[in-house]
Amino acid sequence: MIYSKTPRKETLRSITDAIHIPFWLDDPARPAPEAELTHTISTDLLVIGAGFTGLWTALMAKEADLSRDVVILEAGEVAQGATGRNGGFMDASITHGFLNGVARWPREISTLHAMGLMNLAEIESTIDRLNIECDYHRTGEIDIATEPYLLDDFKKIIELAKPYNINFQFLDRDQIYSVVKSPLFIGGIKRFDSSIVNPAQLAWGLRKACLDLGVQLFEKTPVTKLEEENKVIVAHTPHGRIRAKRLALATNAFPPLLKRISYYVVPVYDYVLMTEPLTPSQRESIGWHGREGLSDANNQFHYFRTTLDGRILWGGYDAVYHWNNGFGSHLENKPASFARLAEHFFQAFPQLEGARFTHAWGGAIDTCARFSPFWGTAHHGKTAYAMGYTGLGVGASRFGARVMLDILDGKQTERTGLEFVRTKPLPFPPEPFRSLGINLSRWSLDQADRNQGRENLWLRAMDWLGLGFDS
Ligand SMILES: Cc1cc2nc3c(=O)[nH]c(=O)nc-3n(C[C@H](O)[C@H](O)[C@H](O)COP(=O)(O)OP(=O)(O)OC[C@H]3O[C@@H](n4cnc5c(N)ncnc54)[C@H](O)[C@@H]3O)c2cc1C
Repeated sequence: MIYSKTPRKETLRSITDAIHIPFWLDDPARPAPEAELTHTISTDLLVIGAGFTGLWTALMAKEADLSRDVVILEAGEVAQGATGRNGGFMDASITHGFLNGVARWPREISTLHAMGLMNLAEIESTIDRLNIECDYHRTGEIDIATEPYLLDDFKKIIELAKPYNINFQFLDRDQIYSVVKSPLFIGGIKRFDSSIVNPAQLAWGLRKACLDLGVQLFEKTPVTKLEEENKVIVAHTPHGRIRAKRLALATNAFPPLLKRISYYVVPVYDYVLMTEPLTPSQRESIGWHGREGLSDANNQFHYFRTTLDGRILWGGYDAVYHWNNGFGSHLENKPASFARLAEHFFQAFPQLEGARFTHAWGGAIDTCARFSPFWGTAHHGKTAYAMGYTGLGVGASRFGARVMLDILDGKQTERTGLEFVRTKPLPFPPEPFRSLGINLSRWSLDQADRNQGRENLWLRAMDWLGLGFDS
């Protein structure tokens, strides 16, 4: 393991001026919020949460049937949750990567892979059709080795994927050097069905498309309680109420409105830095002329990509769980994680010593024990939910929304017939075992990174139980 735990003084200076707002939301194009709900209304379909899952649900519902009344209630503003805070890596995989998918659903992996490709293609065609400017590029993504044993892992993945006709490309040291120059990077594996996007701009484009089609959106409107009343669900907000025939819950890692969700999803905080725009000579020094999304392939990994105005986003590594599903904006600012990330950045790119970071932020990831989305219903089938993307939901959230609509409309489709869709993750145990288990896993993953990938007894037991993190 080559990444240091201790930031230098120079590194700490690089983050002193960073503002704690997600870079993507710090954009003059950010729309002014719609009004809050202050009265009582009724609707055919209520969507709670205006991140990618909620926006896709509303858009696809309205596009399928313009006569259907659709309302979105959002506690804050569109994209202020994970949707406006992520790295903007949009992968075709709906199973959190091929390895996780093939390990859990070996009989369905070919179908799941094909459905993921179709989902990505449909996102692309929607962006084109609606003319959404969101710096979208199908660039592919490269996982990078910083240790020789990872190169062997890459070769094994390529062999494992061959029977499913899933293409990966192995990159040796020279080939990775021609993509990006770092003294730490010794090889890579490239996936082609992966894109980068400005996630907030995509969300705002979906928001506009929803409004243009007549979806009613109320922002600054948290739902505080749900009640089932005969044929409808009643959602209570601080100053209004809404009676809905159907309800789509798209609240991700936020404190859930249905208690059962808290058994399956834990919020895990992830942190991100954004540099100032690099100068032409800084950019030349790292030779990263393409827009490929990159990440290193350790258990505790960094993801990094460029922006339209020539910055580098550098995030990941720390994944912090707080006691009893701790959640809130106070957890989004973590100076120690920002400093560690910055130190790792300068280790990867010593040529950029002296560069400054302008933005530093955090966000909660809706982690579940199978690391990929799951679905469920409540209120005698009138309510459905989709969540659990575990950090790979920028693309998969559209599939999550698609399945949620199938369920709410009572449609039997190829999607709803999948074991992937019909099953749920294992629940997390209650506290204190929840914290103990998660923190022990995190510590063990760090140890494995420092020990040539060798897993301790705990990780081997987790693998055996189907709880191992494998992608
Ligand atoms: C730091 C970070 C980096 C990530 N990087 C990537 C990446 O590069 N690629 C990738 O694929 N995925 C990534 N992810 C994950 C990805 O961002 C999410 O999977 C995806 O955005 C989920 O969208 P969502 O709509 O389900 O949730 P969210 O965007 O979190 O939306 C949920 C919404 O529900 C609202 N809400 C919650 N409760 C209520 C309530 N009671 N009443 C009304 N509204 C409510 C919230 O305000 C919020 O706006 C990352 C996540 C984080 C945090």
